[in-house]
Order: sequence, then structure tokens, then C-alpha cells
Amino acid sequence: MLKDAYPYYLANDAVYANKDLDVTDKYSGDIATRVAIADVKAIDQAIAAAVEAAPQMAALAPFERQAILNHCVARFQERAEELAMALCIEAGKPIKDSRGEVARLIDTFRVAAEEAVRIEGEVLNLQISARAKGYRGFTKRVPIGPCSFISPFNFPLNLTAHKVAPAIAAGCPFVLKPASRTPIGALIIGEVLAETDLPKGAFSILPCHRDGADLFTEDERLKLLSFTGSPEVGWALKARAGKKPVVLELGGNAACVVDADADLEDAVERIVFGAFYQSGQSCIGVQRIYGHTTLYDKLKQKLVEKTRALRMGDPRDEDTFIGPMIAASEAERLEQWITEATDQGATLLCGGERDGAMLAPTLLENVPAGCRIADEEAFGPVAILAPFEDFDEVLAQINDSRFGLQAGIFTRDLYKAQQAWDTLDVGGVIIGDVPSWRVDNMPYGGVKDSGLGREGIRWAIRDMTEERLLVIRTP
Ligand code: NAD
Repeated sequence: MLKDAYPYYLANDAVYANKDLDVTDKYSGDIATRVAIADVKAIDQAIAAAVEAAPQMAALAPFERQAILNHCVARFQERAEELAMALCIEAGKPIKDSRGEVARLIDTFRVAAEEAVRIEGEVLNLQISARAKGYRGFTKRVPIGPCSFISPFNFPLNLTAHKVAPAIAAGCPFVLKPASRTPIGALIIGEVLAETDLPKGAFSILPCHRDGADLFTEDERLKLLSFTGSPEVGWALKARAGKKPVVLELGGNAACVVDADADLEDAVERIVFGAFYQSGQSCIGVQRIYGHTTLYDKLKQKLVEKTRALRMGDPRDEDTFIGPMIAASEAERLEQWITEATDQGATLLCGGERDGAMLAPTLLENVPAGCRIADEEAFGPVAILAPFEDFDEVLAQINDSRFGLQAGIFTRDLYKAQQAWDTLDVGGVIIGDVPSWRVDNMPYGGVKDSGLGREGIRWAIRDMTEERLLVIRTP
């Protein structure tokens, strides 16, 4: 259960403010709790505190950073069910998926604890000509300084963890703005961080309004902006971020191919999960399904059968697979996209019904080019199906998108796997599974409108540290 009210965290301290944000239970629509809102002054103080904390954070020995991260792992394990229920309420995420996200939160902190003691430099061979004779080079990685993090609503714990845990491993203080619709996950992480020996000012977690949010992007005291959210917001923030490097983890319309030699049952099982889990609100949710003509009819029939059998309802119910979308307006948007497609000749294979924020899992085929459900990011429980004959052509179709996050290919042909890896303009190719597959220590991110840079602890640590060179002349 949630507490009646949550503070924000300013320079490691819990603060209850005059202004609150109501957080609703996304299934019932009732107000579930209130969260303190940070104003511009508080955010400015948080950034100043992070600047002051930077040398102390950098001075923490790797084993000390590791101990802090391990403390978090232990506390998340103890509080796992409470964390899962918080997600279930604030995000409307079915309880089984919520528990899955808590397990991933723990993985992310565990891997960060391991990486904290593995941040290493190089010995360089500088002696490339007579001029460099007797010179030796060494590099080490130093923390970049105070970081700015902005996280989205759909994984309130684990996508916060993907920024916070590597920052602690790297020795960077940070300020974080959680999503206003789902701030509780990040605030519970804050509660746990407040128990640790992090130097004063090392972290601030600040739900805020738009005026405050501008500082996260524009303030020059912050040395990195790491944003996860929609392409529209992400690219606009990059344009205002000044000199700081920017990492953008944005949206997609992920494609999945079922080739002629695929194990159909296995592919169907995984595709239904990848398309509809947490109501399709995943940046790598399956949106475009391409089936080889030799198995297309069977694939369609099995997908429709399985999709119709998915259980919708209260996310607290252990048997619920599909809960509400984050807001009724989002379900309404998708309902319009479905109508736009059917008006232009698409066939509705199943789903399409809406009740408030609940949208039935929907499959469409014969969707004409130019429809939003084909070209834009659905970010909901709707996927489209199309047959293909030629593997080269289907790869070209996948690439014919402004997005490029991940793609999934069900094939047993090693050459086609290699060809997909070579050809697809995406951040990751998953062979034998859906594009929605992710584990938390892999490099993860997109190209084109889907983003810039990679997360996955090791890669995030690279962004949060810089190489510093030492040259020694030995005459
Ligand atoms: P969003 O862009 O609406 O919001 C993301 C965050 O940005 C929130 O914290 C929001 O409050 C904040 N924000 C919005 N406008 C801002 C501004 N002007 N200045 C500063 N902060 C601002 O996205 P969302 O609806 O929370 O999340 C859904 C989107 O996130 C989808 O497009 C999805 O694909 C993407 N996403 C990407 C990944 C990834 O790793 N690539 C993961 C999850 C979600």
C-alpha cells in the first residue's frame, strides 16, 4: 500500500512542501497519494548541492560505491512486494509485470555494484615516431560531475535505476526528475538512498512542474543530460541543452519477422507477450509483425486466438495480463488511430473495444501506408500484421521507418541472422525472439528518431566518466 504522502529529496533530505501533486490509481482513477512538488528555488539548491558534492563523490573509493549499491540491492529485496504494489497502483501495471520490474531493478543495481569496481583505464603505446621516444601514456576515467536525469512513466523503477545506479558507480552526483504521472517508484529509491553514506548533496529527486523542469535541461552546472521519454520531448530538450552531452532513450515502432523456418508456436507465444505486455506501453513493444507467406495464415489464426484469450482487468489480480493504459486520453488516441486505419481499408482482426483507459489488445492487417498506426509509435496494445515473401524486402520495410530501436527475427538460418544484423538500422537485433527482449547489462538504445547513445550499466558509466590522460617522459 502507498503512504498518504511522499516527500521529494533535496540534497539527500526528505522535504514535504506546500505544493502537492496528486497521484492516481490508474485502474480506479482514485487519488492514491500525494507527492511534494519542488519549485524552481529547490531545484536550483539541489543543483548547487550536487556541484558541492561532486569532489566527495569522486573521492569515494570504488568499494565504497559498491557498498552503497549493495545496500540498495538488499533493501529492494526486502521491500520487493511493497515496490511491486506501488508500481501496480501508480502505473496500472499488472502485478506480475510489476514484480518483474522489481526483479530488474535489483539486477540493475547488482550489476552497477559489480561495475563500480571495474572502472579502469589503459596503458597507451605513444612511441609512434622518434619524437615520442621515451614517452608513456596512461588513461583513467574520472566522473563527469553533476548529472541531470529525466525519466518516463512506463518503468518508474527500472528506468530510474538505469540512470541512478551507474551514476553512483561512476561517482557522479545527480538531480532526477521523475515522470509526474508515476513519481512514486523514484521516490522510494530516494528513500533507500537516504539510508546510505552518500555524501550530502549527492542526490536529489524532484517531481516538479514545467518551469522547474527547464533547469534540468538548461543549467550549465549540470554536465550531462540523460533523458528517457518521447522523441518529441527528447529532441526538443537536446536543442536547449547547451554544451552538455545528451543521451536520449526515445520511442520506436519495433518490428518482428517470422520467417518460413520459425517454430510457429514459440514465435506466437513470444509475439503476443512482446506486443501486449503492460498494455503495449514499452518502447520496444512489438508493433509491426511480418509473417512469411508460407505460414502467414496459420500465424494470423494463432495470434488472434492467443490475443483474444488475454485477460484484461484489475492490475492487482494475479491473472490479469492487460491493465489500463496510463490515461484514458492515450487509449482514446489509439482508438482514433485504429478507426483511421479501418476507414482506409485495414481489417480489424481482433480487439478495438475501449472502456476508459482499458483498450482491448488489437490486431490489424492490410493497413495502408501513411496510417499513423503503421508509421508512428503506438505505445499501446495495438499491432499490425503483414505477409512477406522476400527476406531482403522485409528488411528494407523494417528500415523504412523514422525509428530504429530494436528488431526481432525468428529464423534458424545463420546467414539471414547475420544479414539482419548487418542491414537493419537499429540499436539491437534479437534473433529467435521479439524486439522487446532486454536484459539490464546489455547496451541498449536507438538510432534515427529513437535516440542517441546507449544505456546498460557499462555504457552509461562511460557517458558519466571522461578519460583523463597522463603522459610521462622518461629521458
Ligand atoms: P514524455 O516525453 O511525455 O515524458 C518523459 C519525461 O519528460 C517525464 O518525466 C516528463 O515529465 C518529462 N518532460 C516532459 N516535457 C518536459 C520538458 N519540456 N522539460 C523537461 N522534462 C519534460 O514520455 P512518457 O509519456 O513519460 O514516456 C513514453 C515515451 O517514452 C514513449 O515514447 C516511449 O517509447 C519512451 N520510452 C523510451 C525508452 C527507451 O529506453 N528508449 C524507455 C521507456 C520509454
